[in-house]
Amino acid sequence: MNLKGKTALVTGSTSGIGLGIAIELAKQGANVLMNGFGDVEGPKSQITAHGVRAEYHGADMSKPAEIEAMMAFAAEKFGGVDILVNNAGIQHTSSIRDFPTERWDAIIAINLTSAFHTTRLAIPHMVDKNWGRIINIASVHGLVASKDKSAYVAAKHGIVGLTKVTALELATTGVTANAICPGWVLTPLVQKQIDARAAERTITVEQATRELLSEKEPSQQFTTPEQLGAMAVFFCSDAAANVRGQAWANDGGWTAQ
Ligand code: NAD
Repeated sequence: MNLKGKTALVTGSTSGIGLGIAIELAKQGANVLMNGFGDVEGPKSQITAHGVRAEYHGADMSKPAEIEAMMAFAAEKFGGVDILVNNAGIQHTSSIRDFPTERWDAIIAINLTSAFHTTRLAIPHMVDKNWGRIINIASVHGLVASKDKSAYVAAKHGIVGLTKVTALELATTGVTANAICPGWVLTPLVQKQIDARAAERTITVEQATRELLSEKEPSQQFTTPEQLGAMAVFFCSDAAANVRGQAWANDGGWTAQ
């Protein structure tokens, strides 16, 4: 498998799953356009260690004008995006009746609407080349629900729907669209939920971690960013050229229950 000469835009690739996917794509030779907040140089060096080129654009994925600027930057620096990984995401947990409306808007904008913008702007270049891969990082919460995650579950079900429509509209081209649906992955996004659980119930972080896993994830194990990166690499392979509109879980059995 060789992605040499291809460019991957991975949104939210300064941390967690996005960084894991960017590294696995870089191992296959893809150049990477990074995006996200926080430290850039550390994550960037983990990507360029694989002999590829990496650039960074700090677009806030809740702002369509900044997304447009990032896509223009991709065209200028790399000639366009061949592999689009819509990964940037945030979480907020609260019951619907207490859910802060600005958190709802932010989650829908970052976890769902941003993928509409990157996708619509990436399609022309991919169709021109008759090759492209759109990989949406959904979640088990794109397939099933949990309480206190109304905005997240709505956005993730939404992105699974967007994935299917994208796949159908491009079905006669060399451009595919699929979603990955992870269960628990130990990243800063989940660590916050574990820490909150430990504080709320005055238990240790280790106990809170065990509780979190045992509630929903039959394997009692976290999925890793490396494993999700390997799934993204598979979606980029020739073997996956006719895999279209799927939402594939990597969830330790969560959605088999
Ligand atoms: P993370 O917090 O480690 O990383 C999130 C990334 O998104 C970071 O790079 C962050 O800077 C970036 N980001 C956040 N807001 C942004 C914005 N407005 N503009 C640009 N970038 C922004 O979280 P993660 O766990 O790696 O999550 C990545 C994706 O995986 C999310 O879409 C999340 O919903 C999904 N996911 C995570 C899990 C899990 O258990 N961790 C499970 C299923 C799905």
